Amino acid sequence: MHTHDVVVVGAGLAGMRAAIAAHEAGVDVALVTKVHPVRSHSGAAQGGINAALGNATDDSTENHTFDTVKGSDYLGDQDAIEILCSDAPGEIIQLEHWGAVFSRHETTGKIAQRPFGGAGFPRTCYAADLTGLVILHTLYTVCVKYEIPTYEEYFVTDLIPDDEGGCTGVVAYDMVHGTMETIGAKSVVLATGGAGRVYRPSTNAHSSTGDGMSLALRHGVPLKDMEFMQFHPTTLSPSGVLVTEGARGEGGMLFNSEGERFMSKYAPNKLELASRDVVSRAEATEILEGRGVNGCVLLDLTHLGKDKIMERLPQIRELSMAFAGVDPIDAPIPIKPGAHYHMGGVHVDSWGAAPHMPGLFAAGECACVSVHGANRLGGNSLLEAVVFGARTGRAAAGYAQEVNGKGSQARPEHAVAAEAEIRALLEREKGPKQHEIRDELADVMQDQVGVFRNGDDLAAARQKVGELRDRFQNVVVDDKGSTFNQSLIHTLETGYLLELADCMVTAAVNRTESRGAHSRTDFPDRDDENWMKHSLSYLEDGNIRLDYSEVTMTKYEPQVRTY
Ligand SMILES: Cc1cc2nc3c(=O)[nH]c(=O)nc-3n(C[C@H](O)[C@H](O)[C@H](O)COP(=O)(O)OP(=O)(O)OC[C@H]3O[C@@H](n4cnc5c(N)ncnc54)[C@H](O)[C@@H]3O)c2cc1C
Repeated sequence: MHTHDVVVVGAGLAGMRAAIAAHEAGVDVALVTKVHPVRSHSGAAQGGINAALGNATDDSTENHTFDTVKGSDYLGDQDAIEILCSDAPGEIIQLEHWGAVFSRHETTGKIAQRPFGGAGFPRTCYAADLTGLVILHTLYTVCVKYEIPTYEEYFVTDLIPDDEGGCTGVVAYDMVHGTMETIGAKSVVLATGGAGRVYRPSTNAHSSTGDGMSLALRHGVPLKDMEFMQFHPTTLSPSGVLVTEGARGEGGMLFNSEGERFMSKYAPNKLELASRDVVSRAEATEILEGRGVNGCVLLDLTHLGKDKIMERLPQIRELSMAFAGVDPIDAPIPIKPGAHYHMGGVHVDSWGAAPHMPGLFAAGECACVSVHGANRLGGNSLLEAVVFGARTGRAAAGYAQEVNGKGSQARPEHAVAAEAEIRALLEREKGPKQHEIRDELADVMQDQVGVFRNGDDLAAARQKVGELRDRFQNVVVDDKGSTFNQSLIHTLETGYLLELADCMVTAAVNRTESRGAHSRTDFPDRDDENWMKHSLSYLEDGNIRLDYSEVTMTKYEPQVRTY
């Protein structure tokens, strides 16, 4: 058995930034991660990270705050958004000092900033189209320098509650040796990333299965705003591989089969750089009304020229050639909306603390502070991961220092009990296979809980998810081995996905309005009178129970949202 003051589950941007902050606060902190840190999904982030540096324009923190509130369709908590935007410049400079190589303005030499969707100013800092990779590697080098112990390829299967219901550590499956380990702690930070794999296709890594959200849910912690799944306007078909918003930020234009630059009908001012929910709905409408091209619309970059594409969007060129057979220097790329980012997550306050389980914290995509509300702006998620990763790491360290005398109540017996459960699962010989259940789940979510939704489809999807959860009770794992048993790992992940999908459809059925990414054809308008509130999903006796909480407003009154 191992013990630390603070255990951070997840080594993407949020997890590593939290661990660095906790280490700097003077506690013994460890990282636990199911993939090697630099293989975390953060490394796939392309387009950039927002901060009102005002390097080339008179942008301000206040502009960034307003754009984010508006982008959230007024569901974001304005006090948290103010923190996000005012801490942003400091975090960017800190990353730069740690060695992150951002692209630079040709003449001034300052950090360059590109336009992004829903933003009034060019404020997205970037490293070509490899921004997430650059920041992830930078944070990893800091973790190595600080000698932060890292349990690599350890899959966390449970949180350990103490006598008073607080969080006192985790149980993790050592994927190399096939054994269970107890890792005790005084506080635990969940930084396990998103749940995009509830859908297919998805831009997310195969590891984005929402594990931490589900673990919190199982211990009575509510998940917030689960009905809001973001569909990114430019994904390749059929793989779902992402083409960054930076492609439109650099001047990319969208056309339908009639050669019409259709965004002029939907967002006459911002065109392709309206917020993501608006652009995705516009594309879906064009495709549904018969003006698509083989189920897609076209993203044209040809006018940017070879030099600009090679300098600013080299990865996009490679991905388009590999996954769509198109070189964007010569021809437009067929793209369509695809599942990308989950706005919901573990209900936490602005220090990352979760309710009902003292000592449990969450940050990054698995948390919901909420700064994105009903629709996230591109470039704000990497930012959330570092800003709230740092705050949460500090808060978790502070909590561990406060309860110092107490020690962890985690015991080796916790791992022994968990190992028996895994053995029982592996011994089952007859029943449905996890991949069949997962495929059916992803298909029903894609077909009935997509860009446009309606009450009948959502109710049918909810019933189907319930049936799949029942079938999963008898799931069979084919591989009985104990070294890198991916079949076992995928089965545990499918269990998480099913619970999260149930939260998503239950909250979506109930929300009888359209707001941000939740667009209902049977309730097409935003309804501030009845629905200006966060949904909270609880797991009780296996079922999802909904509750609601207030949205915090500081100075921005809700307005009609146009771009
Ligand atoms: C293709 C793509 C491009 C994107 N581009 C941008 C962009 O340009 N700008 C932007 O702002 N946002 C972007 N996003 C969103 C952004 O990248 C993510 O929201 C953000 O990086 C999430 O960081 P994270 O640290 O919360 O999680 P992740 O980076 O996903 O890390 C999750 C970590 O949790 C660990 N983990 C998960 N489950 C377990 C478990 N059971 N046990 C142990 N460890 C576990 C994993 O091993 C991993 O280390 C993009 C997303 C995608 C998918």
